Amino acid sequence: MACPRGSVKQAQSLQRFLARCASVVMLSEVFILCIKALRLRNTSRLKSINRPLWVRAMAAQINSFKCKEFRWHDAGDIQSVKHLLKIFKVCKLTPGVKHWMPTKEAQFLKHIPVKRIPKNLIIRLSGTNVDGGAGKFWKWSSTVTTDPKKATCPAPTQGGKCLDCRKCWSRKIKNIAYLKH
Ligand code: SF4
Repeated sequence: MACPRGSVKQAQSLQRFLARCASVVMLSEVFILCIKALRLRNTSRLKSINRPLWVRAMAAQINSFKCKEFRWHDAGDIQSVKHLLKIFKVCKLTPGVKHWMPTKEAQFLKHIPVKRIPKNLIIRLSGTNVDGGAGKFWKWSSTVTTDPKKATCPAPTQGGKCLDCRKCWSRKIKNIAYLKH
């Protein structure tokens, strides 16, 4: 005959296990819903790029922030040469703002002469490999390093924030090396 105390313990641990499973299932469902919502939001953002008012709407929104610097593409990237040229127009309509745009889309930059870029915009070509270089054909770049001595971005020592640093917006700085985290 099985020990009754053992049976109670087994039942309790089975109960805890099932509760954990239920939490994991719930979390997975929440995660899937979040991903779907993000996809929907990104799809509608991408569609909005083709709208005739996109340039003016973006410029009005950026000007309303009353900030001196703006970073493009916290998520996402350039979609086409046409999209890039629209961004140039937004920069021209926001002359009091310095724009920084990181990108991995070398294919589109190849069509753009540097002199065509608005003076208040810097486009940094991001290196694709950790501890690798950035594309050589473009004037400004960013790379990722695992060596803290090679990192030139001070954010890791500033609580992950830029604070007073504005290196990424400076055309005088050819490459920024971020520390891999
Ligand atoms: S280099 Fe400076 S501006 Fe660029 S991400 Fe790091 S802290 Fe921010």
